Amino acid sequence: MATIGWIGLGNMGGPMTANLVAAGHTVRGFDVDPAAVSAAEAGGLIGVSSIADAVNGVDAVFTMLPKGEHARAVYLGDDGVLAHAATTTLLVDSSTIDIESAAALHEAAADKGFRFVDAPVSGGISGAKAGTLTFMIGGEEGAVKDATALIEPMAKNIIPTGGATTGQAAKICNNLMLFINLAATAEGAVLADRLGLDKQVFWDIASVSSGDSWALRTWYPVPGVVDTAASNNDFAPTFTAELANKDIGLAIAAARDTNTPLEIGEHVQQLFQRLLDDDQGGKDCSMIIKLVDGSL
Ligand code: NAD
Repeated sequence: MATIGWIGLGNMGGPMTANLVAAGHTVRGFDVDPAAVSAAEAGGLIGVSSIADAVNGVDAVFTMLPKGEHARAVYLGDDGVLAHAATTTLLVDSSTIDIESAAALHEAAADKGFRFVDAPVSGGISGAKAGTLTFMIGGEEGAVKDATALIEPMAKNIIPTGGATTGQAAKICNNLMLFINLAATAEGAVLADRLGLDKQVFWDIASVSSGDSWALRTWYPVPGVVDTAASNNDFAPTFTAELANKDIGLAIAAARDTNTPLEIGEHVQQLFQRLLDDDQGGKDCSMIIKLVDGSL
């Protein structure tokens, strides 16, 4: 069994560490938010008060942070991972970040003699809790293999994507599709309601028909239909509108760099921007339905 340092214990990181602990690993965790550390301690994690403490003497470090700027600060800062970990420590970044930041982390880690992989995940907090996430891992083959062994208790699917930053490339494209599907699901759900269909009857049809998607089955934005949906909980965040806006923004930036027209993606990004402009960035991204039903 390994000793693992974990940085970033939010909606995803907290439940992911509980699965590592349940598998017999020792996990030392840090978050700038003390409440996140306390919540993760309930899953058996040892809470610590700095990055230096979290990475001291561990076999591997995982990070699960909001954006590229946070990951850069955590790895590259004076008090960060590269400054304090031993170079034998395997580094695994599971945050969803821009490709440029991921490349900078790979390069800085390699310069100092560390092995680093980009290993973002899909599956939402329901997948994080159940240990059924999909991991997509980019990096050098040996490092990917060693990371895979540690990731197993958190995952149903672990898919090597190729060299450095290819995990992030896969994640960015996947999430572009997710958020377009979420917007489509919100439009279908509201129109079905206005045509007099019962919400459960319509969901039962769409979930076994060509309107099906992960967003429909996991995040249905109408309350009282899907257990895992934030809509049941007044849109308390499982995946914030702010992070959804970030992810679709990453796809749009990558599309501009590659001359790829994303007309639908750009439109969906404007919907998330409207949620942010309305101070709803901290709520769940499935609140996008309120822009369709007119309640926002
Ligand atoms: P979150 O905001 O709930 O958690 C992020 C945590 O990082 C917070 O607790 C925050 O306090 C902490 N943090 C920020 N800066 C820090 C620092 N410098 N040092 C230590 N801790 C710091 O976000 P989340 O929903 O857990 O998502 C994390 C990442 O995973 C994001 O990149 C997101 O896009 C991605 N992701 C999220 C989901 C989801 O459904 N929520 C699914 C797949 C991937």
